[in-house]
Amino acid sequence: MRLAVARETREGETRVAMVPELVARLSALGYQVLVEPGAGRGALITDDDYTAAGAIVHDQALESADLVVAVQPLDAHAVRRLRRGALTVSFLPATQELGLVADLRDAGVTALAMELVPRISRAQSMDALSSQSLVSGYRCAIVAAGLLRRFFPLNMTAAGTVQPAEVVVLGAGVAGLQAIATSKRLGAVVRAYDVRAAAAEEIRSMGAKAIELDLPTLDGAGGYAREMTEDRAALQRELLTPFVARADALITTAAVPGRRAPVLVTAAMVEQMGPGSVVVDLAADSGGNVEGVVAGEVVRIGHAQVWGGRNVPAQMPGPASRLYAQNVLNLVTLLTPETDGVRSLDPDFDDEIVAGACVTHEGVVRHEPSRLALE
Ligand code: NAD
Repeated sequence: MRLAVARETREGETRVAMVPELVARLSALGYQVLVEPGAGRGALITDDDYTAAGAIVHDQALESADLVVAVQPLDAHAVRRLRRGALTVSFLPATQELGLVADLRDAGVTALAMELVPRISRAQSMDALSSQSLVSGYRCAIVAAGLLRRFFPLNMTAAGTVQPAEVVVLGAGVAGLQAIATSKRLGAVVRAYDVRAAAAEEIRSMGAKAIELDLPTLDGAGGYAREMTEDRAALQRELLTPFVARADALITTAAVPGRRAPVLVTAAMVEQMGPGSVVVDLAADSGGNVEGVVAGEVVRIGHAQVWGGRNVPAQMPGPASRLYAQNVLNLVTLLTPETDGVRSLDPDFDDEIVAGACVTHEGVVRHEPSRLALE
């Protein structure tokens, strides 16, 4: 069995889907590991590192592969290089990439999407959304601390007392909780808000103060948030305004699966923030939680510098790749069951995890929303 590690082709993608440390684990499953030349360069992993770990660096890695692992979806050119029946594992935002889904279907490729792996306890070790959100949340807090021209922690010195920075975090899922934990470790006073009922307790368990608004909670399916009505959104913005106005740093991480990011903060709210304040919007890639944010840029709104995150995990490619590769290895292990002492690439499409992650298989689009959109 041949497993190929793809070289990422999307602009700005620095991560790689497999790291040398895990090559031996793939070999133990029965895979010969092929790596496209330069695949690890963005994550500072050389071809020699892969070779030393037992992989083969090869130009034609994709053509001969039974299984291809990648971070971003393969491009149309790469799909044409795959053999019929090959399997791919990558992030694949299917409904936003319908042309590619059709290409994968027509090429007879079985495509599994990491973001569709169900968030059940058995699949926790394969949960790449969580592992990459951990990286993003940490990075957001570090960016906020770096942009802010003042201390995060309290300092009591002979030259006087320096007050700690006040950080407000909106959205306390995996990334938001990590942003809270990192800001706390740096010594800031942190307040946070999330629409889910369980969030206040989770915020407090990180040592932050939960902002409790006189609004109903919005719990949706699978532990995610529900979308707000426009009336509720307007009221939430009004109630959050004084918290935003007094923050030195505002970090926003709110998302609703499959939807544009909710606008939690208007430009008028940012204009009430003080001189030197900073805003870090992790949701900029999906439309932004902050009105006026631009993904990949720092813009000024009022006194505040507003930083828009673009592919934030790729800003820490080494650790992000290691975590992602471990998620991929755990999924590949599930796809490679052992029968009579022999392992083979034989995914069980009745398994909830495989079925949930499957976008295309045997010339059919299995991901229902994409199939309907393609009809
Ligand atoms: P996400 O990235 O979809 O959203 C980030 C956060 O934004 C969520 O906490 C959400 O409630 C919040 N949000 C949405 N709309 C908002 C609004 N209008 N105002 C304020 N906040 C808003 O979510 P996520 O971080 O991937 O995970 C969300 C939940 O799922 C968390 O409770 C997490 O612990 C849970 N989870 C469970 C598993 C598992 O069981 N295996 C795995 C990962 C996450």
